[in-house]
Amino acid sequence: MSNEPASDRVRVRRLAERGSYDQQTVHAILDEALVAHVGIAGDRGPVVLPMTFGRAADTLYLHGAVGNDLLVQADGADVCVTVTLLDGLVIARSAFHHSMNYRSVVVRGPARRVADPDELELALRSITDRVGVGRYDDCRRPDPSEIRKTRVMAVPLTEVSAKVRTGGPVDDEADRDLDHWAGVVPLVTRRGPVEPAADLPAGIPTPPYL
Ligand SMILES: Cc1cc2nc3c(=O)[nH]c(=O)nc-3n(C[C@H](O)[C@H](O)[C@H](O)COP(=O)(O)OP(=O)(O)OC[C@H]3O[C@@H](n4cnc5c(N)ncnc54)[C@H](O)[C@@H]3O)c2cc1C
Repeated sequence: MSNEPASDRVRVRRLAERGSYDQQTVHAILDEALVAHVGIAGDRGPVVLPMTFGRAADTLYLHGAVGNDLLVQADGADVCVTVTLLDGLVIARSAFHHSMNYRSVVVRGPARRVADPDELELALRSITDRVGVGRYDDCRRPDPSEIRKTRVMAVPLTEVSAKVRTGGPVDDEADRDLDHWAGVVPLVTRRGPVEPAADLPAGIPTPPYL
């Protein structure tokens, strides 16, 4: 992946200087985020649903119930997956220049159902390990009946763009002396102390990856 878009439809046009197509930037955002918004042009109109996801090399993986309507319709279809990390609220003197600091990724391309057992395991591992790397190897693996109940889809990380906004408000010169507060309210997603399950037997330590 270079710093040129793989296709014209993922070229960031609006504030193009915030756009990036660099693999490292894209992967770093995907690997930090926990939620993807998956969009399709569905048979009852466009629909975008939040989902968890995984990444292995240059493939993004989604999963859901075997009858998941969005994933069924996505099979072989062109999809758009958006991932957003929110870093701050940008407070400007003018209402017009209020903004947000963010790092986001847009992936466009064909979704493919994963059937190969090795790829299925890779996909489910990548998704399960989002909670903490190592979890897939430290829990009961899906059995054949659970695998049959699960639909796993792959989307290539080929047509990808990242967009990043950082910094403070950009007010109009004429507004800079106005008597309104301006600046940034940082937003942070962080892990809190773990809460063991009510029925967790005594003596099972908290895994270090959590
Ligand atoms: C948290 C958040 C809040 C936002 N709020 C607003 C808002 O209220 N109003 C608003 O107009 N815009 C907002 N944006 C920016 C918005 O995502 C678009 O970048 C912007 O609206 C330009 O849209 P466009 O259709 O002109 O994009 P274009 O630049 O024409 O989009 C072309 C291609 O660029 C890529 N691209 C565009 N935006 C992004 C992105 N954010 N991340 C990764 N790739 C991208 C995609 O591949 C897209 O297909 C927000 C972004 C984030 C992350």
